[in-house]
Amino acid sequence: MSAAPGDIADFVAELDDAVQAHMDWTRRIIRCAVLRTPPDADVIAPHAHTLCRFGAWFSANRSHFDALDPAVAQRVDAVHRRMHDAMRVIFSALAGSAAGHPADLDAFESAQAELITLLAQFKTRALSNTARHDPLTGLPLRNEIAGDYARLQKETGRSGGVLYVAMIDIDHFKHVNDTYGHPAGDEVLRRLVATLKQALRGNEPLYRYGGEEFLWLLKCRSREEAKKSARRALATVGTTPVVLPGDEILRLTITLGLARAGEGEDFASVLARADQALYQGKRSGRNCYVFADT
Ligand code: GH3
Ligand code: MG
Ligand code: MG
Repeated sequence: MSAAPGDIADFVAELDDAVQAHMDWTRRIIRCAVLRTPPDADVIAPHAHTLCRFGAWFSANRSHFDALDPAVAQRVDAVHRRMHDAMRVIFSALAGSAAGHPADLDAFESAQAELITLLAQFKTRALSNTARHDPLTGLPLRNEIAGDYARLQKETGRSGGVLYVAMIDIDHFKHVNDTYGHPAGDEVLRRLVATLKQALRGNEPLYRYGGEEFLWLLKCRSREEAKKSARRALATVGTTPVVLPGDEILRLTITLGLARAGEGEDFASVLARADQALYQGKRSGRNCYVFADT
């Protein structure tokens, strides 16, 4: 899910409210059936599933569900509709004073049970997604890297490509905090991440490694291509000034250390080499990239 963690916390709270709204709907139905009072449109209308509070909330928040799992989001939609369809059939029978059919009740109950299970799964996924992302920048955190590295290493091996690990550190960032304060420093970090993302290709993950250090996994065909990507990152950051609140303009630079993942090399080893290359870049004046010798 690409939404910011704050959005995810809101999403989870709203999901709880929406499930509660569904339970209220169920209570109203039981009262109508027992007291023989007429049900509302969110029970008997042909498009009742769009009229109930859960349905309205679900369609307004569909993008969050799709971002987590589009196939399961589709299933929630279908099961919710099926549940409403079953209840409409039951109430049509009751309106004609006939008894309802057990098969319709079974259909309602199984659809409702599946809906509740699917929503509980979405909640768990949304929460675990929050725990895996940095609240400041929205980037995945470092504990995700080793698993992704192993997967990409296999993929590049199979396709005849090469995988590079790039460690990125902002130059003289302490100066930003010292001059403008830590809250402004936080804002600069957020904006710099947005800038860096523009320089990355879609299939290249970026992680917040810690502090103002970021880790980038690059699938390349050659060292030349990795060089081009590193140059692009430097140029994008260098030509995108950060405008602070108060219209202060900051020009930032970064330094990159890159290491090519050797065949079967574990992540800790390639990371250590990328880190060394980064420090070499810092020593040689910053605003540059350095490749580790392999
Ligand atoms: P260098 O060019 O050598 O990298 O110099 P630097 O000043 O950037 O030095 P270094 O990378 O060691 O310092 C990182 C600074 O980043 C120190 C820390 O206060 C600041 N920092 C780390 N995380 C955060 C954060 O989340 N918010 C803010 N505002 N500052 C942070
Ligand atoms: Mg730094
Ligand atoms: Mg640092």
